[in-house]
Amino acid sequence: MSTLPDVPPDLVPAGADRPYPATSARAGSATGTRPVAVITGASSGIGAATARRLATEGFHVVLAARRVERLDALVEEIRAGGGQATGVRADVTSPGDVAALAAAVADLDGDLTLLVNNAGGALGADPIESASVEDWQWMYEVNVIGTLRVTQALLPALDASGAGTVVVLGSTAGLIVYEGGAGYAAAKHAQTALAETLRLELSGRPVRVVEIDPGMVRTDEFAVKRFGGDEQRAAAVYAGVANPLVADDIADCVAWCATRPQHVNVDRLVVRPLAQAAQHKVHRVL
Ligand code: NAP
Repeated sequence: MSTLPDVPPDLVPAGADRPYPATSARAGSATGTRPVAVITGASSGIGAATARRLATEGFHVVLAARRVERLDALVEEIRAGGGQATGVRADVTSPGDVAALAAAVADLDGDLTLLVNNAGGALGADPIESASVEDWQWMYEVNVIGTLRVTQALLPALDASGAGTVVVLGSTAGLIVYEGGAGYAAAKHAQTALAETLRLELSGRPVRVVEIDPGMVRTDEFAVKRFGGDEQRAAAVYAGVANPLVADDIADCVAWCATRPQHVNVDRLVVRPLAQAAQHKVHRVL
């Protein structure tokens, strides 16, 4: 005998007797046009891997970043593989660029069903006592205000699609702090607050909000940029770690969350390499 209480009828979602809309990608392909996914920061690392992966999942991917030559090369690569891709030069700190991104998306045939707010990064690892205010401002502008700005610009289209998803690429630094990481942690904590609040505010509307928080991911540029181009210092971050996560691992997480049936909202997915049991506990063989 079941020990579970019956679900009160008022908690049974409308339409529960018929299948929920399939994942947005599959729903779109049935009509001949592909649903559209926007990925910010698609010129390198996790964003580029996510664009490649979502193209294989059937999305028309819109790649946004500042380095247009990288976007062009990736668009060409995806198209050569049979995917649909469009590159848009957009600095997420520029209201004009973001408005132009939204206009470019509106010009496409398919419905916008997925936004991946990935543009971001860290600058510096100095203690609060001596940290650069400019570095903090950059991190807040790109990670937090960039996510806010792009989400605001694209939310009407995501809502209108009837099956939208907003992904926020946070970090485990958004859940815990560490010495020298306050500026990045503050920005990532703010992204977490944004994602959680947005999910509450969108309750009852057809847009899910997914936060993905990776731990250590070895990408080509993240740590190098953080340490102002110091390759040795960047390499030390991953020294002795057998298998840090790579960009494709996070792309896999984004694709998995985005291709669940639309009623399944993965609120938060925290993912670390096996060697990183916690922020401060990294197994290294040196
Ligand atoms: P990455 O390779 O440095 O990629 C950062 C991306 O953001 C680039 O494509 C960059 O493109 C873009 N970007 C930076 N400023 C921008 C701006 N103003 N406007 C538009 N795009 C901008 O780093 P990643 O490792 O792939 O990281 C991607 C995201 O994952 C970031 O949000 C990061 O905080 C997060 N994350 C990374 C790790 C990690 O260990 N790597 C762990 C957890 C979370 P352009 O320079 O061409 O504009």
